[in-house]
Amino acid sequence: MNGTCELTVLPQVPLLQPGWDYIRQRQEFLLSPYLPACMAFLGHLFLCAPFLVLDVLGRRWSALNRYRISVNSENPVSFSRWFECILRIFWNYLTCIVPVTALLHKFRTPNLPVLAPTCAQVLWEIAVCLLLFDAFFFFWHMSMHRVSWLYHRVHRTHHQNQDTFALVAQDASWAELLSLQILALSSAALACCHPLSEILFHLLNTWLAAEDHSGYDFPWALHRLLPMFGGAPFHQLHHQKFRGNYAPYFKHWDWLFGTYLAEEVRKTRRS
Ligand SMILES: [Zn+2]
Ligand SMILES: [Zn+2]
Repeated sequence: MNGTCELTVLPQVPLLQPGWDYIRQRQEFLLSPYLPACMAFLGHLFLCAPFLVLDVLGRRWSALNRYRISVNSENPVSFSRWFECILRIFWNYLTCIVPVTALLHKFRTPNLPVLAPTCAQVLWEIAVCLLLFDAFFFFWHMSMHRVSWLYHRVHRTHHQNQDTFALVAQDASWAELLSLQILALSSAALACCHPLSEILFHLLNTWLAAEDHSGYDFPWALHRLLPMFGGAPFHQLHHQKFRGNYAPYFKHWDWLFGTYLAEEVRKTRRS
């Protein structure tokens, strides 16, 4: 009977198995306590790069600026603001995020299963992670706006950028950055994700945050394809109004709590 069960497993080798085997062979790297923070910082810079290239190109090709939704789109962000932003983020990672996430890593049990997840499992687990993170972030973000002490001590740094650009996604106080890292790690832990799904979730999370702050509304942006997504216009408006649109990705929590700024989102869009 047991032999029959083992034989039935063999034809179901997931499509992602070769990629997962490649990753598993680098276990020391994968289990490094510094990996989550380093991946978050380098992933942020790497995934912001396409938007930063567009910012540079927009200085020469004004046609690109028709996709910009930023308030001061005619005044592109200066390189000095980029570097100030990168330095602030780097300092926060160096002094807080790297040591604290490395410490938290010690409490996690290493789990690197032999079998890769199926594609359907990856999609499902990433969707669950995104929904959980979206819910945690919504309530935490709304609290930071409604409790004066939290706003001034934790969230105000992020709102120094009324006109956003991709790097702003992680331009926040050390406390806010750390809280977002913990929310993302907790979402993956609660979803009981396969490690491969978790890696892909963190990368997607970083990309979506960069896109939210990019200041661009392209026809192929995710929120144009999936109506439940708020996207860059949704979050840009939050930075302009300092209220409403508290969820990072989906709109349902803002609808339910009456904090959705739908009409105003349309007004900020440029045709
Ligand atoms: Zn923001
Ligand atoms: Zn805010």
